[in-house]
Order: sequence, then structure tokens, then C-alpha cells
Amino acid sequence: MNIPFRREDALVPGEVETIAPGVRRIICDNPSAFTFRGTNTYLIGTGSSVAVLDPGPVDEAHLAAILAATSGETITQIVVSHTHRDHSPGVQPLKKITGATTYGHGPHVTPGEGGDHSFIPEIRLADGETADIGGRPLTALFTPGHCGNHLCFALDGTGILFSADHVMAWSTSVVSPPDGNMRTYMRSIAKLRAREGIDTLYLPGHGPRLPDPMPFLDGLAAHRQKREARIVAALREHGPSTVEALVGPVYGPLDPKLIAAAGRSMLAQLIMLEEEGAASRDGDIWKLD
Ligand SMILES: [Zn+2]
Repeated sequence: MNIPFRREDALVPGEVETIAPGVRRIICDNPSAFTFRGTNTYLIGTGSSVAVLDPGPVDEAHLAAILAATSGETITQIVVSHTHRDHSPGVQPLKKITGATTYGHGPHVTPGEGGDHSFIPEIRLADGETADIGGRPLTALFTPGHCGNHLCFALDGTGILFSADHVMAWSTSVVSPPDGNMRTYMRSIAKLRAREGIDTLYLPGHGPRLPDPMPFLDGLAAHRQKREARIVAALREHGPSTVEALVGPVYGPLDPKLIAAAGRSMLAQLIMLEEEGAASRDGDIWKLD
């Protein structure tokens, strides 16, 4: 089963896209191999109560774009999906200007690259908790895996789910240990899959929207299972191996920029096999059990 990726996205930094009544998107100019065309910032609500979901990195132009898009309105809340450096560091400068209340699951707890340790939410949202965000009911769904404190948010009654970096139309998610965890990621995929009929449009943290998300979730799950089978086959064929030695046989030719990330993803899958009792390691050498 192939994942039905979507990469077409006409939005450019500085422009505002209206997605639904009270839901707008702007994009930060921080493109990369991991952020695609940049971080999506969503504005929820209008007028006297606007919430900013994921202000992005510290970026003056993007901060100015957020303020310009809400000119004449009041930003009262800042919501964070997860504490990666391309999503949450922009909270502090925005809060300084607006005094808005901050929301998130909790601080970043694991050391490691990419984590933003500066963000500590004033209001912590637990799994399943519904808060009034931008005058609308928004329900937090704890979806760890890509990041240990990752939340998706359902805009109740609309079919919209802000899927952040857990599910994106343009690419699979990076799952990088120790903060990234493949077992919890797969559980978080299953958790969203169980919401069939409730969520009909995903709005991701990068790239374009994702309509018809259920077949996409099936594709993501099948993709990781296929990868796992390839890792098991490579270990069987080559015997005990390091992650570095397995990247080639499992992934085939790769853009050099993506080799390190592929290794992290592979490590995440090996740790899952270890947690399931199917593999073990001696130092950096992995083997099947
Ligand atoms: Zn992320």
C-alpha cells in the first residue's frame, strides 16, 4: 500500500489562507528537508478572541506576519502542539507583545537535538481535555511518538483535526529516539484511526491540508510495518549489525541530507523490536532474538 502523499501548496509566507470559518493559516519562511516549505501557524477564532496555534521558530518576519494577519483583532491564547524548535520558540516573543495565555501538554523532558526546552505552558492540556480556544471548543489528543509531548487538536463539530507533525500530507514523520518513540507513534496512529467519521480534514504542522485522512493513516501504518520487515530481513541476512550498516540495505539509495534521519528512524524501529522482545543490542550492535 502506497501512502497518498500531497505536496501541492500554493501558500507563500506573508499571505493568509482562510480554511474554514475562524480557521486561518500562515506559513513561516523556514523551509528545509524536515520542515518542507516552512512551519504552518494556524489562527483559530476571530475578533476579540484569537488563538495562535504553533507560532513557529523565533523569526521576526513571521511574528510580524502573525500580527499583521490579526490586525484589529486580539490574540488571547497561544497553543503549542509540541516542543520542537520549529514550532514553539516563537511563543516567547509573541507572548511578550500580546500577554496571551499559553497552552500545551507540558515541557520538553528529554535531552537531544531539536527540543525546545524554553516552553512551559501556563495551562496544561491532558488527553481528551476540551478547552475554549479562540471561542471554539478544541479537544487535545495526546499523540506522542514524533515528540514525547505531542498533541493533536480536534476542532469539535467541524471534522477538522490539527495533526501537527504526527501526520503530515507531504511526508512521513521523523521519529528520533530518545524523545521520539516508534511504539507510542504507532499507538498514536491507531488512536487517530479509531476516530473514523469524526475527523475528516487534517491540518498538519507543515505542508498542505490532508482530506480523507483514514486511508492515509492505513498507508502510514503499513509503511512502518514494511520497514520493520525489511529491518528484520536485513538483520537475518547480514547478522548482528550497527544501525549505520543497516541503512543502505533497508533504505536503498538516499539523499545524503536524509541519511542521518533514516538512521534515527531505524534506531526507533529497532528499539520497538527490542521492547517487543524480538531484537536486542550489545553496545551499538543489534541482533535478532
Ligand atoms: Zn516536530
